[in-house]
Amino acid sequence: MNILVLNCGSSSIKFAFFDEENRILKGIIERIGFHDAKVYYIFIPNNDKEEYIESILDHQKALRILSNIIEKYDFRIDVIGHRVVHGGEKFVEPVIIDEKVKEDIKECIPLAPLHNPYHLIGIEISQQIFSEAKNVAVFDTAFHKTIPEEVAIYPIPYEYYEKYRIRKYGFHGTSHFYLMLKTAEVLNQPLQKLKLITCHLGNGASITAIKYGESVDTSMGFTPEAGLMMGTRAGDVDPSALIYLQKMENLTPKDIDYILTKRSGLLGISNLSSDMREIISLKDKDRKANLAFRMYCYRVKRYISSYIGVLNGLDCIVFSAGVGENSPVVREEVLKDMDNLGILIDKEKNYSTIGKDGFISAEDSKIKVLVLKTDEEMMIAKIAKEIIK
Ligand code: ADP
Repeated sequence: MNILVLNCGSSSIKFAFFDEENRILKGIIERIGFHDAKVYYIFIPNNDKEEYIESILDHQKALRILSNIIEKYDFRIDVIGHRVVHGGEKFVEPVIIDEKVKEDIKECIPLAPLHNPYHLIGIEISQQIFSEAKNVAVFDTAFHKTIPEEVAIYPIPYEYYEKYRIRKYGFHGTSHFYLMLKTAEVLNQPLQKLKLITCHLGNGASITAIKYGESVDTSMGFTPEAGLMMGTRAGDVDPSALIYLQKMENLTPKDIDYILTKRSGLLGISNLSSDMREIISLKDKDRKANLAFRMYCYRVKRYISSYIGVLNGLDCIVFSAGVGENSPVVREEVLKDMDNLGILIDKEKNYSTIGKDGFISAEDSKIKVLVLKTDEEMMIAKIAKEIIK
């Protein structure tokens, strides 16, 4: 069975093609909506890469280009796995897409106005272009369906949950799910015995507490803006401070949203960059870059520590995504002074594990620490294949 995985965003489409066993092709079309959009892909078996600039003004054209690439290699597509950010309370499992499913994804648009509309566009156009293929939706929120209600419901009047479904949903579910399965495999232990904390630290960042194969808490909430400090997102802030700010600066809800999602986090504090690499390179010279670094790491530490309590113990902490996979400096800062909780890092292993999988905990660390490259595309392909079977 051949599977195309599509991650269709507002201005980019990421894609990957898998045959029965392997990823054969992957790529990205960026800056959709512009005359200088970029197409990049790599045919993995012979490392054949192509990159060019082209005017791509809409998703229809972008997916036509993808269809040409698929044709060039003479691929047959049986299934398309679509990443869908928000499934609300309706979708707690991946589903084969039909008209009703599209309607229901549409209903979730108010919950993810920046994502779900583009996923739907991707689904519609795929159904036209790749008319032979079956389409499966895999939801970022679905893995967190097991979070208990006392964790998910916010302590505001309950009627707002009933009226507007305001509650914690959690995101990055496909990544946390992949990391959970991979960790069990690496540790060679059954999931039913494992307590894990998975840290997905990319541009967006979230941490999940996993008990015996189920997500029991996660740092993102009703939106992917909650929890950790991120590249440009604030994460948790006293909600009343924002109401105060709104009054003082006479801001609209849209202004506040912009500040919280685009002007905050590493960028907001340092006023220099949202990229952790730059923050690290500047932190010894620039006071605010230094503060941004310490704030970021402290927040990861705080979530890890609280989840050790939630789980009543822990077998393994997993670091993943851009920052987690590549930054020993962040991992060291996050996990320093946690020896009383049973966490000890092997400095040499930590600094030699960059962009690859491996344990970085010391031999005598009670809790293991593992670095894993996440693979959401592979996970979506696997899930889509299973559901079709
Ligand atoms: P996304 O969340 O968009 O999928 P990634 O998981 O690829 O992104 O993470 C991207 C982020 O990873 C970059 O913004 C950068 O801050 C961080 N990153 C990548 N490499 C390093 C590195 N060597 N050291 C620190 N941070 C890194």
